[in-house]
Amino acid sequence: MDQIAYVNGSFVPMTEAKVSILDRGFLFADGIYEVAAVLDGKLIDNASHLARLLRSVGEIALALPETIDRIQEIQKELIARNNLVNGMVYLEVTRGADTGRDFAFPKGVKPTLIMFTSVKDIVNAPSAKTGIGVITVPDIRWARRDIKSVALLAQVLAKQAAAEAGAGEAWMIEGGMVTEGGSSSAFILTQDDVLVTRQNSSAILPGCTRKAVVALAEERQLRVEERPFTVEEALAAKEAFITSASLFVQAVVTIDGKTVANGKPGPMTDRLREIYIDFARATAQ
Ligand code: PLP
Repeated sequence: MDQIAYVNGSFVPMTEAKVSILDRGFLFADGIYEVAAVLDGKLIDNASHLARLLRSVGEIALALPETIDRIQEIQKELIARNNLVNGMVYLEVTRGADTGRDFAFPKGVKPTLIMFTSVKDIVNAPSAKTGIGVITVPDIRWARRDIKSVALLAQVLAKQAAAEAGAGEAWMIEGGMVTEGGSSSAFILTQDDVLVTRQNSSAILPGCTRKAVVALAEERQLRVEERPFTVEEALAAKEAFITSASLFVQAVVTIDGKTVANGKPGPMTDRLREIYIDFARATAQ
């Protein structure tokens, strides 16, 4: 059966899911996206993703074509229509298609809203057992990384470099400090058992999984410091890991080919992964 996508009010087979070449998402990357995980057919931490969607569209003065409640209904209908058990729902909203290519916002143009699903067994991903390697690259992105914009060319190049190096993710570096992963938030556990992750600002995307993991760790009396860290600090740490909706919590075992600790996922990373998965199942919608 062909996969079903959602395009501007209709559920259509993926092969028929199309938008105009004049769509501003295509021409200018004038759009916002979100990715929410699905476990056992239910959305994970979706309120947090939809809150970030609202914030992102607000920051670029883009009006959503549907209410947040309706967007969640569409997400759920798409999961049902695709019989999706485990995976992700991708959604994107752009400033729509005008009649030409003017940079300034068009008037009277309806925003484009599309969604599609993908299958992934996030809980049993093999890399969760082995951990992943990361490479470091300069962070060449724009100055508003807090907006979840579809302008992802810097991340495409960073993740391609990682793939070519046989690594699973790229950590982006600015001013000697790690900002975040190409599509994940970065954490370390220091030798004093302090969890360190960069504080939210316009330098990084405020990760939904990051937010949940920080809250879950603090509830368990773990010390969390929100501040930037260096690659040297990460290499001297007890553990390192990344978080994202499509990975949950995943150990980082090498950085630029050098091992972190013994080169295996650490016990705290494994524990936080379990805690996050329990939280995900308990709050799934
Ligand atoms: N940082 C960046 C740059 C990302 O693209 C992503 C996810 O795509 C994340 C962090 C993790 O965010 P979340 O946990 O909300 O998936």
